[in-house]
Amino acid sequence: MKQFEVPIIYRSPFITAIKKKRKELDKMKRDFAPTLLDFGPLQIFVARHFGFCFGVENAIEIAFRTVDENPGKRIFLLSEIIHNPHVNADLQEHGIKFLQDTYGDPLISFDELKSDDIVIIPAFGTTLAIEKKLNDLGLRAEKYNTTCPFVEKVWNRSAAIAKQNYTVVIHGKPKHEETRATFSRAAANSPSVIVKDMDQAKQLAEYITGGKRPDDFYSQFQGQYSDGFDVNIHLKRIGVVNQTTMLASDTQAIADFLKQVMINKYNLAEENVDEHFADTRDTLCYATNDNQTAVVNMLQTNADLAIVVGGYNSSNTSHLVELCEQKLPTYFVNSEEKIVSPKQILHYNFHTKQEIETSNYLPDKENTKILLTSGASCPDALIEGVINKLVGFFNSSKNVSDLLKNME
Ligand code: SF4
Repeated sequence: MKQFEVPIIYRSPFITAIKKKRKELDKMKRDFAPTLLDFGPLQIFVARHFGFCFGVENAIEIAFRTVDENPGKRIFLLSEIIHNPHVNADLQEHGIKFLQDTYGDPLISFDELKSDDIVIIPAFGTTLAIEKKLNDLGLRAEKYNTTCPFVEKVWNRSAAIAKQNYTVVIHGKPKHEETRATFSRAAANSPSVIVKDMDQAKQLAEYITGGKRPDDFYSQFQGQYSDGFDVNIHLKRIGVVNQTTMLASDTQAIADFLKQVMINKYNLAEENVDEHFADTRDTLCYATNDNQTAVVNMLQTNADLAIVVGGYNSSNTSHLVELCEQKLPTYFVNSEEKIVSPKQILHYNFHTKQEIETSNYLPDKENTKILLTSGASCPDALIEGVINKLVGFFNSSKNVSDLLKNME
């Protein structure tokens, strides 16, 4: 895979060494077991795959290169380049200004833009309407477009099923930048609707089967269906795509469920199911797949707690938290600073969307086992920071440098 140039402050020699070693031992990426970091009284099990993905490194490289190559120019980002507060703050320190918040609400009016300004499109991509707006203003958005190719792959998949007259059902978070972008592109080609979870998939199924009054669809799915969507016509042939960072098992369950609804409604067999349901397989990206599979494998280790590092508004990170929470106490932090002391930790509850404080999060026993991972937008340097902080709480005879020496 292509190597990107991202600022050295995001790298960690220790984590790079771990990843390099695992890669050498497992070139085909078949072993998803975690890496044990044995500090004696503290054992940390680091997931096999975590941290910056292809799309994130690509976006960061383009953004910093744009700053370097354009001194004196006004540079804007449509919104956060990725969902990591440290990276976004660094870009702002380099003079980049954000035009919108993550929900698409304006921070700076587009009217203030001039044709010689630079506007960078983030890794999530953007809507056709915004792309047109930028082009109308004479801004060459395509030159500074960091849209991840794996997001574009979903757009292509949607276009392909639209061509075959399927309605596109998008499993995603309706307000997430990527889902808004995917929806806008799908809606340009075919009727489209967003379902955010299995509950909404079940509600959609009721309109397919005739269990609900068609008129209710428009209030129930307000803001989630394309213009001109006719619930009586447009739910006869459907295909499911997803926001690339959703929970793989959720997308699969929703696709399987809707497929079965179609099979029952139209009395289909496996060989003619495509008359009403497109075979899209899942459209998760490789990083989401790898990171989630690595967490599922990491959870087979008996541990006392899990720590997941990443931006609080990061979708892929929150899904890693969701997986860990099913098995053991899990703390979602965005940096080592949140691990205040051996007794106190500040962490994000993504269900209530609040940062909370928990006391006595470390077990009161001699040997502690912690599972550790991070999202696809989290710099490895933050993971090393968390490891160092935790090691400092234990009376350990080894530190990160000792383990690094053993790896060389
Ligand atoms: S998580 Fe996947 S789709 Fe999103 S930026 Fe990374 S590689 Fe691209």
